[in-house]
Amino acid sequence: MTASFLLEQIGMPKDPTSENKILRHRLDEFVAEARKNERKMRRFQSLELKLIGLSSVKDLIEAVLAPDYSTFRWDEVTLLLLDPEYEIQRALEDESVELSSIPHLMFASSDDDLNAYYQMSLFPTLGTYRARQHATLFPARRRTPRSVALLPLVRQGKLIGSLNVGSYSAERFERGVRTDFFEHLSAIVSICLENAVNIERLKRQGLTDTLTAINNRRFFDQRLKEEVGLAKRNKRLLSCMLLDVDLFKNVNDTYGHQVGDLVLRDVAALIRAQMRGSDVLSRYGGEEFSALLSQADEEEALEVAERIRESIEQHIFSVDGHADFNVTISIGVTTFNPTTNEEAVMRIEGEYLVGQADKALYEAKANGRNRVVSAGEIEV
Ligand code: GH3
Ligand code: MG
Ligand code: MG
Repeated sequence: MTASFLLEQIGMPKDPTSENKILRHRLDEFVAEARKNERKMRRFQSLELKLIGLSSVKDLIEAVLAPDYSTFRWDEVTLLLLDPEYEIQRALEDESVELSSIPHLMFASSDDDLNAYYQMSLFPTLGTYRARQHATLFPARRRTPRSVALLPLVRQGKLIGSLNVGSYSAERFERGVRTDFFEHLSAIVSICLENAVNIERLKRQGLTDTLTAINNRRFFDQRLKEEVGLAKRNKRLLSCMLLDVDLFKNVNDTYGHQVGDLVLRDVAALIRAQMRGSDVLSRYGGEEFSALLSQADEEEALEVAERIRESIEQHIFSVDGHADFNVTISIGVTTFNPTTNEEAVMRIEGEYLVGQADKALYEAKANGRNRVVSAGEIEV
């Protein structure tokens, strides 16, 4: 097809000079368009490479929610993630993320909550912002977007989330324009997210007790070392507790070990309920639990221990086919105070702390059980 034929088709003059001018103009437009696309591709590529390099759920979500605004000109970005078992939320909380401070991050507890946004297809949808459809996706908007791009996050044909971009310009995300870059980005975000959640799951399986869903001994041993190190460095108090269910063998013997398992699960939850979120509770072994209370002095630790003891004593266990019953717990407490004699303090290790708490626990058992005994502040 010649240029003059093309020009004839669109009713343009055949005069070679104007033909030339028009062609040159067209060519310039094509080149400009190609350059624009190349710049766009680079922007997307650099964001995607950054995401691929991140493996923690926290870092990934932070990077997705805060792309470089100066290059992307996305006015509002939010993320809605399917999290029916609270795995993602728990992972973030464990990294000290205050979820209520990130309104741009939302969670759906069922498929239906997500599917509602992608009834037509699992491809990015661009178009005008409509309050009825989109207001819930932009709850903390600074201004109301005028156009939106909703990017479905899909793995194995299933929606796992939605990345939502809003623009204050009505022309920014128009229905019908090509969405290749968005499709690519949403595929990358989906894979990275799935990967990060899987890594989190593996980590958790290795460090969580399957019966009680609290930390296991391996986790406790790691944290003990870290917490003692932190206490020494920052000259902060650290209290340690060992808790042992009284005469637990009787529970198994009377009601069977399956009921015993249920009791252990409830006891773990009752202990957890009395502790601060930042305290470390673990199943130390069998019917024994351990706890680390950072920045708690002896008095505070004793207070928490006494609350735990009471809450368990007062709890009534109701199991089908059996009469209601109670259990009690004995607790040994000790406190590490690295603000005293420095040199000797530096030699103290976590095992010593646990040993002192164990002595106190032994005393509590010997003195009749269902009680709290403190070994006091560790003397050096
Ligand atoms: P004490 O007050 O001196 O601690 O008495 P106790 O009966 O609790 O102590 P002992 O160490 O004699 O018995 C602990 C029992 O806990 C024995 C063990 O079978 C039971 N146990 C340990 N782990 C589990 C578990 O995961 N499930 C169940 N059902 N029982 C467990
Ligand atoms: Mg016991
Ligand atoms: Mg025991």
